[in-house]
Amino acid sequence: MNKEILENISVLYVEDEKDVREFTAKLLGSLVKKVYSAENGLDGLEQFKENKETIDLIVSDINMPKMDGLEMCAHIKEINKEIPIVITSAHNDPSFLKKAINVGVSTYAMKPIDLYQLVESMIKAIEPIYLKRKLEKLNISLETRVDNEIEKIKSILDAQDNIILLSNKRIIKNVNKSFLEFFKVNSIEEFRKLSDNIFDYFIEDYGFISKETLKGQECYYQYIKSLKEVDRVVKIKNSQDEIKIFTINVDNYDDINDFYVISLTDITQLKEKSNLLEYQASHDNLTGLFNRNKFKSLFGKEIRRGIRYSSQLSLVLFDIDFFKVVNDTYGHQVGDEVLKEMAIIITQSVREHDTVVRWGGEEFLILLPETQLEGARIVAEKIRSRICKKQLTKNNLNITASFGVTVMQEKDTEDSFIARADEALYEAKKSGRNKVVTI
Ligand code: GH3
Ligand code: MG
Ligand code: MG
Repeated sequence: MNKEILENISVLYVEDEKDVREFTAKLLGSLVKKVYSAENGLDGLEQFKENKETIDLIVSDINMPKMDGLEMCAHIKEINKEIPIVITSAHNDPSFLKKAINVGVSTYAMKPIDLYQLVESMIKAIEPIYLKRKLEKLNISLETRVDNEIEKIKSILDAQDNIILLSNKRIIKNVNKSFLEFFKVNSIEEFRKLSDNIFDYFIEDYGFISKETLKGQECYYQYIKSLKEVDRVVKIKNSQDEIKIFTINVDNYDDINDFYVISLTDITQLKEKSNLLEYQASHDNLTGLFNRNKFKSLFGKEIRRGIRYSSQLSLVLFDIDFFKVVNDTYGHQVGDEVLKEMAIIITQSVREHDTVVRWGGEEFLILLPETQLEGARIVAEKIRSRICKKQLTKNNLNITASFGVTVMQEKDTEDSFIARADEALYEAKKSGRNKVVTI
């Protein structure tokens, strides 16, 4: 089946590194019908325009001169929104993955390219379209002959990784093997006994299609079909409470209004990876607290909110006393343990809406919305006292910290607000440490 798919497709392969391009294009050439290779996004786009009737699949790098891969893909999607795209990338930043999902990239293969993985990704991307074409070629009138033909197409459906179901408006007519496996049932009859409605399994969650978001629509499938690709995402829980995320594709047949092929592609891993990268970009990996990046975006929001509701926004900035001595005496690892245990004490001492940030090496910052100066001072004092009472790490260290506390004033900018907290902190250090100074 896979060999058959590959032999029948033409691929546009875009890569700016000459050696990689030539080597990979040659290998792909021995597997697929034809390879068009291009050396950057602009070249790729032009070749696509010239050969749009024959190109079945795009495989593209991201970072390239003249036009990058994602921009090229966005242009190509404007010409043919169905074309499957595999990106090859060494990228690991979350904005990239988000962008890739938005552009409608089907799947990706990590760089350096492992040919086996690349081919697997290509097959995964092209399969749904190939299946559709094959069905069209069989030229079966699904409405009248579906029961007779079902065995014929069943073997095609069963070869898919994607979960596929054939349905008219209300009733699921047939499903493939991946469907049965995911729902942990042996037959469609068994599935119907649990519930005959696939939509019952769609979990309600922000950004996902569910029964709730479909309410009032005359035909759920038609409605899903009309959505943009990026919005066609569902979260499904099977009978064993296993949750996965899928993109959902709906095809119907011109001559039969009421018959649909629904294909669900598992993107759980892609989504998890994207979430993980998003988490890593906004959190400090030693303490798990927010990092400065995240603080920047939150801070702007809090300031705007503060101004709008004229509520008070306070800031506590603090720094461990003589931390260098801890490192010098007990080693860096013990120092790291202190930072981790401090993070726990701090988090346990603030409210849910307060934001705790690892500001620098041994400096922390807390943003307290709707809190007056005195309220913030009390929080700082609570943390100060908890830290100095507790013995940290297995070395039972007595650690102290100094605190600067301030409240936002009308003319404050981000910098002036933090500078004032810093001034208070400096004052606390200068006047003996292990204390809270408000300004
Ligand atoms: P002060 O009371 O004036 O703040 O004295 P201090 O020794 O705490 O201040 P100083 O700025 O001289 O030293 C800060 C130390 O914090 C030096 C640096 O090695 C240590 N540090 C910064 N980040 C980390 C970290 O991630 N882990 C460990 N173990 N130490 C760190
Ligand atoms: Mg210090
Ligand atoms: Mg310091």
